[in-house]
Amino acid sequence: MVSYSHSKLGTFQQCRYKYKLQYIDKVKVDVPDTVETFMGKLVHETLEKLHKDLKYQKRNSKEELLSFFENLWNEQWTDNVLIVKKEYTPENYREMGKKFIADYYGHYKPFDQWKTIGLETQDFLDLENDHQYHIRIDRLACDKEGNYYVCDYKTNNSLKPQEELDEDRQLAMYSLWVKQKFPDAKNVKLVWYFLAFDKEMVSERSHDQLIELKKSTEELISEIENCQEFPTNVDILCNWCKFKVLCPAWKHEIELEQKTPEQFKDDDGLKMVDALTKLDEQEKENASKIEELREKIIRFAQQKGIEVVWGTEKKAAVKPYDKIEYPKTEEFTRLLRIKGLDVFTINYPKLLSKITKREVDTDILERIKTEQGWMVRLSKRW
Ligand code: SF4
Repeated sequence: MVSYSHSKLGTFQQCRYKYKLQYIDKVKVDVPDTVETFMGKLVHETLEKLHKDLKYQKRNSKEELLSFFENLWNEQWTDNVLIVKKEYTPENYREMGKKFIADYYGHYKPFDQWKTIGLETQDFLDLENDHQYHIRIDRLACDKEGNYYVCDYKTNNSLKPQEELDEDRQLAMYSLWVKQKFPDAKNVKLVWYFLAFDKEMVSERSHDQLIELKKSTEELISEIENCQEFPTNVDILCNWCKFKVLCPAWKHEIELEQKTPEQFKDDDGLKMVDALTKLDEQEKENASKIEELREKIIRFAQQKGIEVVWGTEKKAAVKPYDKIEYPKTEEFTRLLRIKGLDVFTINYPKLLSKITKREVDTDILERIKTEQGWMVRLSKRW
């Protein structure tokens, strides 16, 4: 049996290179937790304690819970915990965690809304081809009406839009497991607690949606198992990736960070990229200057009623031509290709002659306009 979790599948979808290092090569890197992970873990532990104690008829006061959180923080904090956003201190994050717990407590006290069935569950949902999906629910609860609640605590600083939650795979997969384990479940509701906003958001899936989700998860697993290429995918999430030091997309940047200012300036790679950047900028600047001059020459020739403007070494012939205007959309480009027309030659005489002779299909012709354009061609004086 090979098991997959939400985060394993998510890693593959985020960056295949990271997936390979983590799950195929099983590379161990000694990188400390980020402060966000550290704080989130302690908030989860505190809310787990709250609901676990309630099962034993012990209701902690808000102060007791906050002091439980503070104690965990003091016991487990080390200066190795990584703070990516340098403008904030560990204290800022500790206070955030306390605020999340205090708000949750104030909002849901006396916590008799639903009955807790499981906390931090550890189980698996069977999938096809001897695969399993790891079920780890922060809190599973139910009410007297036969509603089951798959609850997830979120400690990050962004609120997800409802459409995104309605597409979420993690909790929806958990609801498949709930339906299997608890056949009395009339409804399974997916509940996210966005603790930073003291906001609860809910989603629910139909039977057909769950069947479809299970199928697409199985397809994703089969894509993973047949995958041969594991490219890097550089984006903002790299800042939180523990493999950054090993990653070919970041290795040079990390080398540069470790250099003295003199070594930094002397780095061959850096010098070459800076030189290329300069030339690239000059090329763009020149291109726009060339375009501006062409337009001026066209206006000059039109005002004077002439066809050729003469310079010291070269002359510029100003000629009208039939310019083709067409929709710059992917769909139209695809249509052109299907009809055997190369989009890169769209302004060239071959296509123009096809249009003039009306040798192009009507569905393309209808969407193409021709109008008069002007070209400037430089050549030697005699
Ligand atoms: S640093 Fe970014 S690109 Fe490199 S492995 Fe991690 S997520 Fe992928």
